[in-house]
Amino acid sequence: MSKKKIVVIIIVVILLGLAGVGIYHMEAIYSSPEAVIIREMQLTKECHEKILSDIKADTTHADYVVLVNPSHGGSDTGMTSGGTKEKDINLKVARYMRDLNTNKKIKIYITRETDTNPSAEQRAEIMEALNPDLIVDIHMDSDSTVSVMGMYALYNGAYFDYHLTNEELADMLLRGAVSTTKTAAIGVVDDTMAVEREIEPWIYESRIPSASVYCGYLSNPDELQALRSNAYCQNIAKGLIKGIEEAVDKLDKSEN
Ligand SMILES: [Zn+2]
Repeated sequence: MSKKKIVVIIIVVILLGLAGVGIYHMEAIYSSPEAVIIREMQLTKECHEKILSDIKADTTHADYVVLVNPSHGGSDTGMTSGGTKEKDINLKVARYMRDLNTNKKIKIYITRETDTNPSAEQRAEIMEALNPDLIVDIHMDSDSTVSVMGMYALYNGAYFDYHLTNEELADMLLRGAVSTTKTAAIGVVDDTMAVEREIEPWIYESRIPSASVYCGYLSNPDELQALRSNAYCQNIAKGLIKGIEEAVDKLDKSEN
């Protein structure tokens, strides 16, 4: 082999080595926790702005506007159990609510369309853009006692619209969802001072009738299996829509 060829081979090997080190570093930077958070914030911002612009461009009229909040999302998974994440079930139920609603008087919007993690401020921005008549917040729960199962709803008893109190809305949503899923109704709880207020302050501080529905326990094997099926999530959504219809009927009557 000529000297020239050897030099070329050495240069190529050095360049390949440098490129490898570069790619390795790029990868490390790209997958660092900071980079993951920045990417999530960017994606969340893009999706959030799309939702806001769709709301502004929306010319359809409905008598009642309902905002559904699929809690958590992105790096905030909520409760988890065996690979099933609360954030995904919350989103699925919220999307079914929007898509399965056939009542022309009611239009349902959601605070996130995909696996993004909007901040409380971003979710509040959607609420302000819509000025909804009702807010329904969706969660799943988990408990150290695996036998605990069923649904419950939290509400803020401190503020309420006298045409429809938060307690009444919580009760209507819970009864609706239990009627279609046949799961146990644990009850409605005044959560004025509790931790939920920290998670969704924008809902709890609004004067709009609102309730948080906890649609099942990921820690209960039977309920987990049910929550993993689309049919069961559709039943939850249909039941919550029934609750919304009942709430809207009460608002209707109070207006006449
Ligand atoms: Zn949650």
